[in-house]
Amino acid sequence: MSQDKPVRQAKGTVFVRPEVCKGCAYCIEFCPTECLGFSEEFNAKGYHYPVLKHPEECTGCGLCGLYCPDFAIFGIRLKDIPQAASEPPVPPKAG
Ligand code: SF4
Ligand code: SF4
Repeated sequence: MSQDKPVRQAKGTVFVRPEVCKGCAYCIEFCPTECLGFSEEFNAKGYHYPVLKHPEECTGCGLCGLYCPDFAIFGIRLKDIPQAASEPPVPPKAG
Protein backbone atom coordinates (compact mmCIF):
# COMPACT_ATOMS: atom_id res chain seq x y z
CA MET A 1 0.00 0.00 0.00
CA SER A 2 1.31 3.46 -0.91
CA GLN A 3 2.36 5.78 1.91
CA ASP A 4 2.70 8.82 -0.34
CA LYS A 5 1.78 12.12 1.25
CA PRO A 6 -1.03 14.02 -0.45
CA VAL A 7 0.33 16.74 -2.70
CA ARG A 8 -0.75 20.19 -1.63
CA GLN A 9 -2.30 22.25 -4.39
CA ALA A 10 -1.57 25.98 -4.57
CA LYS A 11 -4.60 28.17 -4.00
CA GLY A 12 -2.88 31.42 -4.86
CA THR A 13 0.14 33.04 -6.40
CA VAL A 14 2.02 36.32 -6.40
CA PHE A 15 3.10 38.81 -8.99
CA VAL A 16 6.33 40.65 -8.19
CA ARG A 17 7.75 43.84 -9.66
CA PRO A 18 11.45 43.30 -8.90
CA GLU A 19 12.47 46.73 -10.20
CA VAL A 20 10.61 48.60 -7.43
CA CYS A 21 11.46 46.23 -4.55
CA LYS A 22 13.71 47.60 -1.81
CA GLY A 23 14.40 44.27 -0.17
CA CYS A 24 12.84 45.18 3.19
CA ALA A 25 11.52 41.60 3.66
CA TYR A 26 8.16 42.66 5.15
CA CYS A 27 6.36 40.43 2.67
CA ILE A 28 8.54 37.46 3.60
CA GLU A 29 8.22 38.04 7.35
CA PHE A 30 4.45 38.50 7.36
CA CYS A 31 3.45 35.74 4.96
CA PRO A 32 1.34 33.40 7.12
CA THR A 33 2.43 30.28 5.25
CA GLU A 34 6.13 31.23 4.98
CA CYS A 35 6.15 30.47 1.28
CA LEU A 36 8.25 33.47 0.20
CA GLY A 37 12.00 33.88 0.19
CA PHE A 38 14.57 36.15 -1.39
CA SER A 39 15.75 35.69 -4.96
CA GLU A 40 19.31 34.70 -5.69
CA GLU A 41 19.46 37.57 -8.20
CA PHE A 42 19.72 41.28 -7.49
CA ASN A 43 17.50 43.92 -9.07
CA ALA A 44 18.93 47.02 -10.73
CA LYS A 45 19.11 48.78 -7.34
CA GLY A 46 21.12 45.95 -5.85
CA TYR A 47 18.36 44.36 -3.75
CA HIS A 48 17.17 40.80 -3.58
CA TYR A 49 13.45 40.59 -4.24
CA PRO A 50 10.86 38.04 -3.11
CA VAL A 51 10.11 34.86 -4.99
CA LEU A 52 7.76 32.00 -4.21
CA LYS A 53 10.01 29.38 -2.63
CA HIS A 54 7.06 27.13 -1.82
CA PRO A 55 4.38 27.95 -4.40
CA GLU A 56 2.17 25.10 -3.24
CA GLU A 57 1.79 26.86 0.13
CA CYS A 58 0.52 30.18 -1.23
CA THR A 59 -3.14 30.77 -0.42
CA GLY A 60 -3.45 34.04 -2.32
CA CYS A 61 -4.42 35.83 0.90
CA GLY A 62 -2.82 39.05 -0.35
CA LEU A 63 -1.15 39.96 2.96
CA CYS A 64 2.25 40.28 1.31
CA GLY A 65 0.89 43.03 -0.91
CA LEU A 66 -0.78 44.79 2.01
CA TYR A 67 2.49 44.97 3.92
CA CYS A 68 4.68 46.00 1.02
CA PRO A 69 5.40 49.75 1.26
CA ASP A 70 6.29 49.93 -2.43
CA PHE A 71 3.50 47.95 -4.10
CA ALA A 72 6.14 45.60 -5.41
CA ILE A 73 4.26 42.38 -4.69
CA PHE A 74 0.65 41.38 -5.18
CA GLY A 75 -0.97 38.16 -4.01
CA ILE A 76 -4.11 36.74 -5.59
CA ARG A 77 -6.24 33.61 -5.33
CA LEU A 78 -5.99 31.44 -8.41
CA LYS A 79 -9.77 31.28 -8.71
CA ASP A 80 -9.84 35.09 -9.03
CA ILE A 81 -7.54 35.13 -12.06
CA PRO A 82 -9.59 35.30 -15.26
CA GLN A 83 -8.94 32.18 -17.33
CA ALA A 84 -8.55 34.16 -20.52
CA ALA A 85 -6.15 36.72 -19.06
CA SER A 86 -2.81 36.74 -20.80
CA GLU A 87 -1.40 39.48 -18.57
CA PRO A 88 -1.11 39.43 -14.75
CA PRO A 89 -3.59 41.60 -12.84
CA VAL A 90 -2.44 45.19 -12.35
CA PRO A 91 -1.46 45.84 -8.72
CA PRO A 92 -3.11 48.80 -6.94
CA LYS A 93 -1.31 52.12 -7.31
CA ALA A 94 0.20 54.02 -4.40
CA GLY A 95 -1.62 57.05 -3.09
S1 SF4 B 1 -0.60 35.79 -1.02
FE1 SF4 B 1 -0.56 35.25 1.20
S2 SF4 B 1 0.22 33.14 1.25
FE2 SF4 B 1 0.73 33.97 -0.80
S3 SF4 B 1 2.81 34.81 -0.59
FE3 SF4 B 1 1.37 36.49 -0.17
S4 SF4 B 1 1.12 36.50 2.08
FE4 SF4 B 1 2.00 34.51 1.49
S1 SF4 C 1 8.27 43.20 -2.26
FE1 SF4 C 1 7.84 44.94 -0.91
S2 SF4 C 1 7.69 44.10 1.17
FE2 SF4 C 1 8.70 42.55 -0.12
S3 SF4 C 1 10.91 42.92 0.13
FE3 SF4 C 1 10.24 44.08 -1.69
S4 SF4 C 1 9.76 46.15 -0.93
FE4 SF4 C 1 9.82 44.78 0.87
